[in-house]
Amino acid sequence: MPLNPDQLAEIQDLRSSPKQTVRAVSEGMEKHLYHAIDVLDHGFVRVIDYMGDDAAICQAARVSYGKGTKSVQNDEGLIRYLMRHWHSTPFEMCEIKLHVKLPVFVARQWIRHRTANVNEYSARYSILDREFYIPAPEHVNAQSVVNNQGRGEVLEGEEAARVLEILKADSNRAYDNYEAMISEEGQLGLARELARMNLPSNIYTQWYWKVDLHNLLHFLRLRADPHAQYEIRVYADAICQVVADWVPAAYKAFEDYRLGAVTMSAQMMVALRGLLKGEEVTAESCGMSAREWREFQDMIDA
Ligand SMILES: Cc1cc2nc3c(=O)[nH]c(=O)nc-3n(C[C@H](O)[C@H](O)[C@H](O)COP(=O)(O)OP(=O)(O)OC[C@H]3O[C@@H](n4cnc5c(N)ncnc54)[C@H](O)[C@@H]3O)c2cc1C
Repeated sequence: MPLNPDQLAEIQDLRSSPKQTVRAVSEGMEKHLYHAIDVLDHGFVRVIDYMGDDAAICQAARVSYGKGTKSVQNDEGLIRYLMRHWHSTPFEMCEIKLHVKLPVFVARQWIRHRTANVNEYSARYSILDREFYIPAPEHVNAQSVVNNQGRGEVLEGEEAARVLEILKADSNRAYDNYEAMISEEGQLGLARELARMNLPSNIYTQWYWKVDLHNLLHFLRLRADPHAQYEIRVYADAICQVVADWVPAAYKAFEDYRLGAVTMSAQMMVALRGLLKGEEVTAESCGMSAREWREFQDMIDA
C-alpha cells in the first residue's frame, strides 16, 4: 500500500479546496492533480502542479497576445508541425511537477536526465521506511543471451523461488541492521547519514521532480521504450497516461513523430530505396555493420 490513510486524507483535503484562477487550465490534468498512480510494489507517481496546456504551446509558437488558439484543428496542425520539425522551444513553455516514489536503483537511471529540477527525501535527516522493491515472479528473468544489457526468459520453479527468497532475506537483514545501528536504546546510535550505507539499492526513495514538456518527452522517448529497463519503463508508462490527458494534441504528435517513429541512417536510406526499386541489397552493399543491418530489418519488418 503506497499511501497511508493520513497521506490519502491530505490529498483529499487539497483536492476539496479548489481555487478560481485566470491561468490556463487543462481539464484532463485537473483530474490527476495530487492523486497517486501506483507503480511497482510500493511506488507511485503523482502530479503536484503543472503549467500550460496544448494552447500554451501554440501561444508561445505564435508569440500571441491572446490564447494563441485559431481553431482546435489549426492548433493540432501547428503542434504536429512543431514536433515533426524539432521546433522544441514552444514545448518548453509547459511544465510539470511530479512526486515520485521509486527504488534507488531506478532513481540512479532517472537522475541521469539532467534537464529537470529535483529535491529528494533526505536519509540524513529522516529514517527510511522498510520498503523494498521485490519483483513480481513474472519479472524475475534470466540474463539475456542476445543483449548484454537486458533480460531473457522468466525464471521458473526452484530457481525463481530461491532468488526471491534471497532478495527478501537480504533486504530485511540489511534493514534490521540499519534499525539496530540507529537505535538510541542503550547506545549513542549511529548517525542516519552513515547507517543508510548498508541498505540495498532496492529500497525506496522519493523526490519531487519538475521538468518542462520538451525534456519530459525526451525522457519518455528513452524510458517508455522497450529497450529501457522494465522497472523505469513502468514509471514512464504511468507518466505517458498523465501527459496524454494534460496535452492531448502534443502527446498524439509525440506518439506519431517520436515514440512510433524511427531514425534511419544515410546507409539505411540507400538500402530502403534499393528495396523499393526491387534491387537486392545487403549489409555490405549498403555499408552497414551486421548490428545496424539487424536494426534496419527490425525497422522495416511489419
Ligand atoms: C536504454 C538506455 C541505456 C543506457 N545505458 C547507460 C549505460 O550503460 N551507462 C550510462 O552511463 N548511461 C546509460 N544510459 C543513460 C544515457 O546515456 C543518458 O545519460 C540518459 O538517457 C539521459 O539522457 P540525456 O543526457 O539525453 O538527458 P538530459 O540529461 O535530460 O539531457 C537532455 C539533452 O540536453 C543536452 N544536455 C544536457 N546536459 C548537457 C551537458 N552537460 N552537455 C551537453 N549537452 C547536455 C543533451 O542534448 C541531452 O540529450 C542509458 C540510457 C538508456 C535510455
